[in-house]
Amino acid sequence: MAKLSIKDLQEIRGKMVIVRVDYNVPLDDAGAITDDKRIKATTQTVEHLWQNGARVVLASHLGRPKGKRDPKQSLRVVAQRAAELFSRPVAFVDDCIGDKVEKTKAIMQPGDILLLENLRFYAEEEKNDAGFAAKLATGIDLYVNDAFGTAHRAHASTAGVPEIIKKRGGRAAAGFLMEKELQHLGTALANPARPFVCILGGAKISGKIDVINNLLSKADAILIGGAMSYTFRKSQGFGIGRSLVENDKLDVAKSLLEKVGQASRLSSPGGGTGGTPVLPCRFLLPLDQIQTTEIKAGAPKRVTDGPSIEDGWEGVDIGPQTIEAYKKVIATAKTIVWNGPMGVFEIPDFSTGTFEVAKAIAANKGCTSIIGGGDSAKAVKSAGVAKEMTFISTGGGASLEFLEGKALPGVAALSDK
Ligand code: AMP
Repeated sequence: MAKLSIKDLQEIRGKMVIVRVDYNVPLDDAGAITDDKRIKATTQTVEHLWQNGARVVLASHLGRPKGKRDPKQSLRVVAQRAAELFSRPVAFVDDCIGDKVEKTKAIMQPGDILLLENLRFYAEEEKNDAGFAAKLATGIDLYVNDAFGTAHRAHASTAGVPEIIKKRGGRAAAGFLMEKELQHLGTALANPARPFVCILGGAKISGKIDVINNLLSKADAILIGGAMSYTFRKSQGFGIGRSLVENDKLDVAKSLLEKVGQASRLSSPGGGTGGTPVLPCRFLLPLDQIQTTEIKAGAPKRVTDGPSIEDGWEGVDIGPQTIEAYKKVIATAKTIVWNGPMGVFEIPDFSTGTFEVAKAIAANKGCTSIIGGGDSAKAVKSAGVAKEMTFISTGGGASLEFLEGKALPGVAALSDK
């Protein structure tokens, strides 16, 4: 069901609108903001509201204060930067509920903007406590969520508050940023231009099993890289040396491979042919790997002969044959979703596979490319191709849960169109 957009909110003049934003910005040791893109990213939503005469109450978390007041994780610096970026005063109250907040709300005029203090100074926020949500919702007419990065969490500000507003007859809408995320990720999953290719990497398969299961019935091909590939390869009987592996996930890996006809070493590409896939999705595992003696810049490294990693060595990147094979598949794609690096890309010696994949996506001009947040977003930036991507998600965890096919609580709580 399509969710209500901020554009659908009628008659907002004079209304008190609470906007859940994601101002979880990085701070340096002196407490200064080192990257303000999350604040900038909400400009369209905030401007739309104040220019239409709403009284705008912005609410966010910052860091992990775990229910305790911590001046180092105060949003005060964010209010100052937001005012500069919006060219508009942004008032700040050093609390997010209670008397001070209510007194400020009471004197707000149409077009005024107020930023509340860190929601997570209260443990009740992450517990989705009903009393806390009711306090946040005091005097509020309308709700807007522009924080995709926390939409996979059922917190008071993402789930409790919109439910209260809706019960009162108010409406809960997606902000411009949230709407873009839902459009891009939603279209890729529900109606992708084909071939639809998914690239999955990173350290562990544990967080990605449900993603793979969901994508197996949707994608035309899934390309696997990163340390998660070693768990799959071990389950097929290949050697993985000292590589990172999840031994408690070998059965899960095997049953996933059974679905694509690659459960045994003989049926796997690079290890032989055969096997009857149950699903038409092509599931590609690395044909070769880069192995090292130590995960450290300058450590000895060499390409494996086939999928196996030698005893005493550990895998750190996909090898050249794999890069070529993956590039060919990427070049044919009309839709690409990428989540998770192909290796330890933070160390330049082991970043080739990840960066080559990023460049191959950029080179396919005719395709829609969607990059999951977190490390994949960092990787396309480091590879210098971020601008060539169709969309880079702002939510690592949230985009993964979306790819799992799960309803995100923060999205489910919004009003239907
Ligand atoms: P994830 O959070 O599961 O997406 O994992 C991302 C992390 O996986 C990155 O920090 C990578 O350095 C790491 N990673 C990727 N491949 C490997 C590997 N072969 N060995 C160890 N770590 C890896």
